[in-house]
Amino acid sequence: MLYACHCRDCQKQSASAFGMSLIMRRDDVSFTRGAEHLKRWDTRGEDGRSKRCAFCPDCGTRLYHASERDDAAISVKAGSLDDTRWLRPVAHIWLQSAQPWLEIEREPGPCFAQEPDDEAALASLWQQQSNHG
Ligand SMILES: [Zn+2]
Repeated sequence: MLYACHCRDCQKQSASAFGMSLIMRRDDVSFTRGAEHLKRWDTRGEDGRSKRCAFCPDCGTRLYHASERDDAAISVKAGSLDDTRWLRPVAHIWLQSAQPWLEIEREPGPCFAQEPDDEAALASLWQQQSNHG
């Protein structure tokens, strides 16, 4: 499931207007090379829970976050993928801190001032979107 996050953390980690979080099962993600070189650091998310952030020490690109909220999943920083053409966020979250000049396409997904109460709702939207190709 992919969403665009406009929280201040994501603005900082991407050094840009927003972050793209691709939520994947941890077991489904593997690094083809360089995994042993990754650097990690711990911080707290907007929800106050700790998360571990992994980045490339050579170029500084943030690669993924692992949250203590969910052991089984990681948030891949989707802008770091080799092929990003297929990416289409299912929703925008934390719009209350979005850059004021940013015009957001409100379709197909919903928008949230903060984090949605029910992340499962995003997952089911993602499934619908994926099924329609
Ligand atoms: Zn965020």
